[in-house]
Amino acid sequence: MKWEEFADWGRRVADWTQDYHLTVGDRPVRARTEPGAVLSALPATPPETPEAMEDIFRDFEDIVMPGITHWQHPRFFAYFNSNASAPSVLAEFLASAIAPQCMLWQTSPAATEMETRMMDWLRQALGLPEGFAGVIQDSASSATLAAVLTLREKALDWQGNHQGLFGQKPLRVYCSSEVHTSVDRAIWVAGIGQDNLVRVPIKGDWRGMDPDALEAAIEADLAAGLHPAGLILCVGGTGTGATDPVDRCLDVAERYGLYNHVDAAWAGSAMICPEFRHYWPGIARADSIVFNPHKWLGVQFDCSAHFLKNPDDLVRTLAIQPEYLKTHGRDGIINYSEWSVPLGRRFRALKLWFLMRSYGMEGLRQRLRNHIAWSGALHNRLAAEPDFEIVTPPMWSLWTFRYLREGVDPDELNQRLVNAINDDGRIYLTQTRVDGALVIRFQAGQFETTEADVMMAFDVITEIARALP
Ligand code: PLP
Repeated sequence: MKWEEFADWGRRVADWTQDYHLTVGDRPVRARTEPGAVLSALPATPPETPEAMEDIFRDFEDIVMPGITHWQHPRFFAYFNSNASAPSVLAEFLASAIAPQCMLWQTSPAATEMETRMMDWLRQALGLPEGFAGVIQDSASSATLAAVLTLREKALDWQGNHQGLFGQKPLRVYCSSEVHTSVDRAIWVAGIGQDNLVRVPIKGDWRGMDPDALEAAIEADLAAGLHPAGLILCVGGTGTGATDPVDRCLDVAERYGLYNHVDAAWAGSAMICPEFRHYWPGIARADSIVFNPHKWLGVQFDCSAHFLKNPDDLVRTLAIQPEYLKTHGRDGIINYSEWSVPLGRRFRALKLWFLMRSYGMEGLRQRLRNHIAWSGALHNRLAAEPDFEIVTPPMWSLWTFRYLREGVDPDELNQRLVNAINDDGRIYLTQTRVDGALVIRFQAGQFETTEADVMMAFDVITEIARALP
């Protein structure tokens, strides 16, 4: 393809994109493709000669689109949303047009300085105090890995990267049973070992860590000659929105000198609304916080915001400077590749800039408030139905429920229900387990969802449940 042909195709893709987003609600949310269908529709070998863009585009519509689950569907109530608002898609288009590799300040000064400014806008939006510095990571998993590596290095007096962990007292890291599996993987990759990830019991409606049990676990480890090194808290866990009592857990962490990291991958977006900040009291005392603007805030995937009280700890852990990465004679600049595990970096700050300017913070707050209010209203309606049970209460816009029928195993019944709902296609839900029981999650957070979309879930859920054989 010649660049001279690009604009025509670009216009066609832009038209297609607008039409897709305006009509995606008419499609079934989850792909109905059978396993292997897309694979078998794709030729086994690459073409030897050029093919016309017309043919490529037709195959995109005929082969790819039927195999897509529509994350931008207004009735996508499964997992957590991965929103792509219109201005962030435009910014991503521009970023891919100029395609800079933003590993160092000098490899694209605008990208670095935009990232510094956008992370500070987000810091203010979340009500975090001055002094927190931010970096955009590719995922919350990467941010958590970076934090775990930092806590490991701090605990080992910065010798772990050089000497490894051999011969060291086992490092112990504490978290609740509700954290995301990205924490487990970070522990594996950091060489700390799954057996040294201590699951502290939870208690209360928020399903948060019991600070007394945390202290007892640390004391027991010290008595056993182990080395307490870090604490990982969750604010808005994946299954039920579980939230640790941040201030009380940080009291314990501070007493024992533990580095801490707060995973608010989903719920962090809601903290742009001051009325939800009571869910993370004392957050200003955290060492490291991650949240994903690519989830609820509307930034096209991917964009993960990582805030650090003291970025020097992270840089000391991850920076490496072979000659070709040195930026001689440039004092006071930031090379963000020294703040993350990958070296190469995309220009992600651009879509934050487009998003925040295009909606304004108040516009974004209103969207989140609507989602939470509509989800709460749906919860109240379902709670009033005698054959449904609310299992966990709303945490922001997420809650869980079960359908009950006399004499039928509830796990089996609810697995059948969620499958039947997703086969139907009008809405999309996922299941989780709460204290061993299979339950169905509901969360509202799609950028373009409406009150009517959320309320349609009531009709779909009750109608399909009562029609189950
Ligand atoms: N933490 C929580 C609470 C999550 O819900 C998720 C994903 O949904 C993650 C971490 C992982 O996020 P990422 O896909 O950005 O690594």
